[in-house]
Amino acid sequence: MRQWLAVGLVVVGLALAACGSGGGDSPAVVVQVKTPSVGGPTPTATIDASIQIEPPELVTSDAAVFQGGAVLVSVVGDITGGEVSLFGGSHRLIQGDLSMFTFIGVPAEQTAGDYTAEVAFRLLNGTTGSLSTTFTVLATDWTVDALTFDEGKQRFLDTQVTADEEAQLREAFSTDTDTKLWDWPWLLPYDGPVTARFGEQRSIDGSEPEGHHGGTDIGGPEGAPVAAANHGTVVLARQMALRGNYVVIDHGGGVLSGYGHLSQFAVAEGQTVERGQTIGHIGNTGLSTGAHLHWEIAIHGVLVDALRFVDGSNGF
Ligand SMILES: [Zn+2]
Repeated sequence: MRQWLAVGLVVVGLALAACGSGGGDSPAVVVQVKTPSVGGPTPTATIDASIQIEPPELVTSDAAVFQGGAVLVSVVGDITGGEVSLFGGSHRLIQGDLSMFTFIGVPAEQTAGDYTAEVAFRLLNGTTGSLSTTFTVLATDWTVDALTFDEGKQRFLDTQVTADEEAQLREAFSTDTDTKLWDWPWLLPYDGPVTARFGEQRSIDGSEPEGHHGGTDIGGPEGAPVAAANHGTVVLARQMALRGNYVVIDHGGGVLSGYGHLSQFAVAEGQTVERGQTIGHIGNTGLSTGAHLHWEIAIHGVLVDALRFVDGSNGF
């Protein structure tokens, strides 16, 4: 359990309610779930009363999560599979070391407020059950990049080029393999100054800030080695219009990382990489005005703040 119950994780303990003396038509037992450090309603689980099996436990990262953050949902117990529904998407649990789990990304545009995660699971004995808990999405105080019109124009892009690249990215980021390839901890791919944060908005000549930067920009000298943030498989290593020389790594379970503006590739598509392995070198290719790394993490196609994977601020 150690890995899943690391500091910052909230253990949602299960205590079976008294089953009563049977008879009648009570097909299900409502299981009260205690959430020691979380506010909001008490999650409940429902299982078939006739089956003698330990109810699984729902273990989640922080119950309060920022826009652009991520949630780790884990189910510990005798289950063979399940799905988590949250923020309008449904995602399969995959096998971890000691539980079945999935990461869920909180879109930068997700409205702040409370959301219920529904976890449907299948027990070893073939029956099914469900658990639920509430997450609170907190508003992130996005940084704003104030530009003058000329600087903004310089960054203006052909919409067709942008659309083509976004389509390629959507395809790469929709990779959803069942095997967990990553391991703790996640690494910063290059230890340099953060020059633009994830989610940063743009204001041109004092206009209302708009858009969200999809990655974290890290400055560094041209040619400096860029490390894989975690173990995985290279699913993309090619030249793009905006991101320049660009590498995407699949870490399994719908989690992928992207590395843009590279001067050179050190890996090829299909290659397996280890955490910390050099996958390319810092450069200024694509839409870039100076040597830097544009680093992304996407979860089930949702871009999230990659820095939160290394600074612990997601609660995992
Ligand atoms: Zn960037």
